[in-house]
Amino acid sequence: MTTYPAVMASETEWYADGLEFECTLCGACCTGAPGYVNFTDAEGKRIARALGISARRFYDEYTHEGPHGRSLNEVQTDEGLDCVFLDRESMPGKAVCSLYDARPMQCKTWPFWPENLKSPQAWARAARSCEGIGQGPVIPIEAIRIERDATPE
Ligand code: SF4
Ligand code: SF4
Repeated sequence: MTTYPAVMASETEWYADGLEFECTLCGACCTGAPGYVNFTDAEGKRIARALGISARRFYDEYTHEGPHGRSLNEVQTDEGLDCVFLDRESMPGKAVCSLYDARPMQCKTWPFWPENLKSPQAWARAARSCEGIGQGPVIPIEAIRIERDATPE
């Protein structure tokens, strides 16, 4: 008998007591340097439906081919390269996702990406670009696991 996997799990889940996080709607994770917001075909169809346009039109007008597959377009703003769906108008001083319910899984699971959860140091690094980390309620381990394990590779 070996207990190795269980030991590994407890060692790697250094966040077993949960992590504080509350999004401030700063928009920092949706802008900045060039990046990629990938999505599956099913997500693309859902986004097109949310926009009230055809999937073809969504692909043509809002996406491009990136190194990891289709990615949402970006637009240059004073803040950097914003995701084309980042809305800086509706809520003064805030930046919100205009796709919110239909946003890709990659967006939904931030900041609980496996790479950010590797260690306290990795989490602290993520906090430098996401001011919601370390604020607000404690997100329990069960909820973190769901986000972590749903993050696309
Ligand atoms: S960077 Fe963090 S706090 Fe800011 S919008 Fe993104 S998730 Fe929310
Ligand atoms: S789809 Fe929404 S959450 Fe994702 S990067 Fe674009 S604006 Fe941000």
